[in-house]
Amino acid sequence: MTKWTNNVRTVVPYTPGEQPKTKVIKLNTNENPYPPSPLVGKAISSVAMDTLRKYPDPNCSNLTAAIAKYHGFDTENVFVGVGSDDVLAMSFLTFFNSTQPVFFPDITYSFYDVWADLFRIPYETKALDSQFKINPADYDKECGGIVIPNPNAPTGIAEPVSFFEDIISKHPECVVIIDEAYVDFGSQSCVDLVRKYDNVLVVRTFSKSRSMAGNRIGYALGSKELIKYLSDCKFSFNSYTMDAITLAAGVASIEDDEYFNEKLKAVIKTREWTKQALTELGFTFPDSKSNFIFAKHESVEASYLFQELKKKGIYVRYFSKPQRISNYLRISIGTDDEMQKFINELREIIKGV
Ligand code: PMP
Repeated sequence: MTKWTNNVRTVVPYTPGEQPKTKVIKLNTNENPYPPSPLVGKAISSVAMDTLRKYPDPNCSNLTAAIAKYHGFDTENVFVGVGSDDVLAMSFLTFFNSTQPVFFPDITYSFYDVWADLFRIPYETKALDSQFKINPADYDKECGGIVIPNPNAPTGIAEPVSFFEDIISKHPECVVIIDEAYVDFGSQSCVDLVRKYDNVLVVRTFSKSRSMAGNRIGYALGSKELIKYLSDCKFSFNSYTMDAITLAAGVASIEDDEYFNEKLKAVIKTREWTKQALTELGFTFPDSKSNFIFAKHESVEASYLFQELKKKGIYVRYFSKPQRISNYLRISIGTDDEMQKFINELREIIKGV
């Protein structure tokens, strides 16, 4: 007789960035350094206790309506989930049910290959060029699906809408997912392509630009047909994915556009002076349009800098694999004060080598 372990679905899970319990300067998971809109706090505290007795709205109607209105779509064009990880995982399950491989870059969000493995989806990674750019010609072949973040992570490099339209127009045979987790920090959104192509899914999150990683809200915009398929899979898995408090918080965030834009501007401003300061310290990096910078020092090893910064209570992200990026640090943008402290410590560490 065979052993029960033969029937286990074994996977190598995604490794999330550390969430230390002590107070540190946390530049390792691309969170927003500012709190969410004050309206979010108000909405959360006004959720009546009796609301928690009942199941939440399975259709997330208020949040879906707020997102639809914000982007100028109908509610049937919107799907919401527990962070964009949930939305992306459900999208892989729903749309990549093909025997042909799904294409994505070799250096990208490291959850894509995990979901593909989990759902037994065949995939092929396409190597970024020496400047970490995506070569669109690599995506010219018929395939089971395409997923690309814009800007890409962890490089921070953004491409214009025309770049994606070029790829999408050649692929009526599959769903193309554009992961716009970081798009609000200064790059072009592909949302309008959703109005033109019925096979484009744009996925977004409240975790970064809306400072709500702790709530877990993500969403997708797509044709009504795509969203219907996505909802059918979600309702075959778990009807009540989003809790009542989070649903109320999400609506409040969408309603405070002024605060949202003000904080975006602040992060972008800090990112730009941080680039300058890093250059002066001898770092090089692709030009980031996101809330992080992917940087390499001219002489000091990234793994050493990572460890030394950690000793000083500054957490950045270091990926030892793949080899091509093992000498880079991914540095999330904090407040001006946090970034100044980070730069000062970095200067000292480099001096001491
Ligand atoms: N896409 C990309 C490219 C990301 O970097 C992240 C953050 N880890 C996500 C999606 C998921 O974000 P969340 O689940 O918080 O919405």
